[in-house]
Amino acid sequence: MGQSIKRKPTVIDGVEHWVCSKCKIPKMAVCFYKATYSHSGIRSSCKACAPKRLPPTDPIKIKRAKQLRNAYYARNRDALIKYQRKFYSDPDLKRKRKKAKRTYWENNPKKRFAKSAVSNAIRKGQLVKPDRCSECNAITSTGNLCGHHADYSKRLDVEWLCRPCHGKRHREYDHDA
Ligand SMILES: [Zn+2]
Ligand SMILES: [Zn+2]
Ligand SMILES: [Zn+2]
Repeated sequence: MGQSIKRKPTVIDGVEHWVCSKCKIPKMAVCFYKATYSHSGIRSSCKACAPKRLPPTDPIKIKRAKQLRNAYYARNRDALIKYQRKFYSDPDLKRKRKKAKRTYWENNPKKRFAKSAVSNAIRKGQLVKPDRCSECNAITSTGNLCGHHADYSKRLDVEWLCRPCHGKRHREYDHDA
C-alpha cells in the first residue's frame, strides 16, 4: 500500500502546500484526503486525482493523521484565514461559486427533492426544526442547523445537525447528503 516518502510542504502565500504526485500541482491540505500511512497525514495525490477515499484502518493511525491535520491548521491558521477572506470576497470567484452551486443542485436531483421536501414540510408545519443539534445538543440558530439525510429516498427523515457536527458526519461517512 502506501509509500512513506517524507514529503516537505511548499509555502505559498504563507500557507503550506503539498505537490500532488499525479497532477504535480501544489495544493493545500484540504485538497487531499487523509492518509494514515504517510508522514504528512495526507495522501500523495490530491482529491481530484484520487477521488476514492480509502477506508479507515488502524484507529491509532487515524488519530495520528487527525493530529497532523490539526497541527497543520494550527501552524497555518493566520495565513489560511487571510487566504479564505480573500477567496470569499473575490467577485469573480463569487460568481463562479454561484454557478458551481447551481450546477451541483442540477446534477443532484435526489438531493434537491429531499431538501425541498424538508423546507416545504417546515413551511406547512409538518416538520419542526429544533433549536439544537441532535448530536452535540448545542443550541443552534435555525440558519446554522442542517437537515442531514442518511437516505434521500426518505425525504422527511432528517437529522438536525449543527455545522461542525454536520461536517464531521460527512467526513466520517463517505456520503454526500
Ligand atoms: Zn492532483
Ligand atoms: Zn452539533
Ligand atoms: Zn448531510
